[in-house]
Amino acid sequence: MELRLYDTFSREKRSFAPLDRNNVRMYVCGPTVYDFAHIGNARPVIVFDVLFRLLRHLYGEDHVTYVRNITDVDDKINDRAARDYPGLPLNQAIRKVTELTEQQFHDDVDALGCLRPTVEPRATEHIAEMRAIIEKLVAGGFAYVAENHVLFSPAAMNAANAVLPRYGALANRSLDEMIAGARVDVAPYKRDATDFVLWKPSKPGEPSWPSPAGIQVEGRPGWHIECSAMSWKHLGETFDIHGGGIDLVFPHHENELAQSCCAFHAPRMANIWMHNGFLQVEGEKMSKSLGNFVTIRDVLADWPGEVVRLNMLKTHYRSPIDWTLKGLEESAKALDDWYRAAGDVRDGRPADAVIESLCDDLNTPQMIATLHGLRSQAASGHEEDRATLAGSLRLLGFLSESAAQWDTRKQQASGVDAAQVDGLIAARAAARARKDFKESDRIRDELVAMGVVLKDGKGPDGKPVTTWEIAR
Ligand code: AMP
Ligand code: ZN
Repeated sequence: MELRLYDTFSREKRSFAPLDRNNVRMYVCGPTVYDFAHIGNARPVIVFDVLFRLLRHLYGEDHVTYVRNITDVDDKINDRAARDYPGLPLNQAIRKVTELTEQQFHDDVDALGCLRPTVEPRATEHIAEMRAIIEKLVAGGFAYVAENHVLFSPAAMNAANAVLPRYGALANRSLDEMIAGARVDVAPYKRDATDFVLWKPSKPGEPSWPSPAGIQVEGRPGWHIECSAMSWKHLGETFDIHGGGIDLVFPHHENELAQSCCAFHAPRMANIWMHNGFLQVEGEKMSKSLGNFVTIRDVLADWPGEVVRLNMLKTHYRSPIDWTLKGLEESAKALDDWYRAAGDVRDGRPADAVIESLCDDLNTPQMIATLHGLRSQAASGHEEDRATLAGSLRLLGFLSESAAQWDTRKQQASGVDAAQVDGLIAARAAARARKDFKESDRIRDELVAMGVVLKDGKGPDGKPVTTWEIAR
C-alpha cells in the first residue's frame, strides 16, 4: 500500500519512500520541560504516535526509529527553577524542575495511549555534537563569532553553492523580505538582522559549558542547534520525516534545516516535513490570561486517555482543531460503543480500509468513519467485523482495557454504586411482574436521576433483560 504524506517543504502530498526500508527514521520536536504540558502539546504527541504505529505496521516493528527530544536547557526552565527552589544552587534547582516535569510528561502521554519513542535524547547530553556542528559551520563560512556569541548567517548560506536549499524555502519566505521586515532593535553584534544565535555566553549562575570556535568564556547553546545535534546523533545527516506543530516551521525548523544542510553540505535535512495544525479551546486561542488554558492533566482528571486520544483524531492533523466538551462527550460515546462491540475480542487484523485511510496523509476522520461502519456491521451479526474492529482499534492504541474494566472505570468515575443499581433494576423488574407500573416508573426515574440509562431488551432465551449504562 502506498503511503502518501503532505510535505511542508514542497507543499504537496508526496509518495513516501524511506531512505532505508530497514530503518525508517523520524524526528519530532519534543517538549521544553518546565511545567505541565497543555492539551495543545498533546496534539503532535498523538498525531506522530499514530504515524509511528502506521510505519511499524508497514515496515515492521524493529525497522522504525522514532526520536523525540527533551529540551532541558532554556530560559523558561531557569526562571521556573529560581522561582520554585530559591534555596538551591541554580543547577540543582534546574535538575529538579526538569526531572519532575519529564516524569509528569511521560505519565500524561502514557495515559494517552502513546508508545514511547525509540530514543528520547536530552539536549544537555548532546553539547559535544552541538559544538561539533558549530565548528563545521564556522569553518564553512556559514557562521561567525561576535562578542562571545556564534551567529549563523542566512545570507552566507544563500550565497553558497547550489547543493544547499535556499534559506526561507521551508517557510516559503524570501530572505530580502525577512531583512526588510526585521525589527530595528537588532542586537548590535549581528551582521544582518536575520542572523540567529548558535551559541551565547551564559550569565553568572546559569548552566554553562566550554564554548566552541575559540571563545574563551563558557556559554550555552541556542534552541535550534539542539535539534540539529540530536537528530544527527540518532538519525544521521539526512533522515526521512521531521515533524512538529505548525508554529515550529519558522523560525525553528527553517533554522534547524539551515544548520544541518550547511554543516553536512546536504541538499536536505529530512525528506518530508510534517506539521500539525493548532488546537484552540471552545472557539478561542488557549491562553493563561483568557482562563481557558487546559493541561493534559486537567483533561485526564475528567476523561479516560482513550477518549482524549479519539477526540484528537476526529480532526485531520493539518486542520485546526476546536477542543470542546461536546466533542469529548461524543468521543466517549463512540468508545463506549466500540468497547461493547469489540472490547473482549482477542484477535483480529486491522481493516484494509483503516490502513488505506491512514496511508492517505493520515486521514483519521475517514478512518473513524470506517470504524463506525465496522461497528454497525458487527451489530447486524457479521462476527468477523467485530474482530476487524478490535484489530483496527488496537493498532491505533485503543482497547487497552477489557470491556468490563472500561465499564467499571466509567461507573467509578460517575460515583454510581453498581450493586445499588442492580438492586434497583431487580426491584423494578419485580414491580413490572406484578403490574405495579407506578412503582416501576418511579424506580426508573430514580435511576435516571442517578445518571443511569436503562436499556430493556431480550436475552438469548427470549426473556426480557435490562442492561444499563452511565449517561455521560
Ligand atoms: P512547545 O513546548 O511550546 O515547544 O510545544 C511542544 C509541541 O507542541 C510543539 O510541536 C508545538 O508545535 C506543539 N504545540 C504547542 N501549542 C500547540 C497548540 N495549541 N496546538 C497544537 N500544537 C501545539
Ligand atoms: Zn526541534
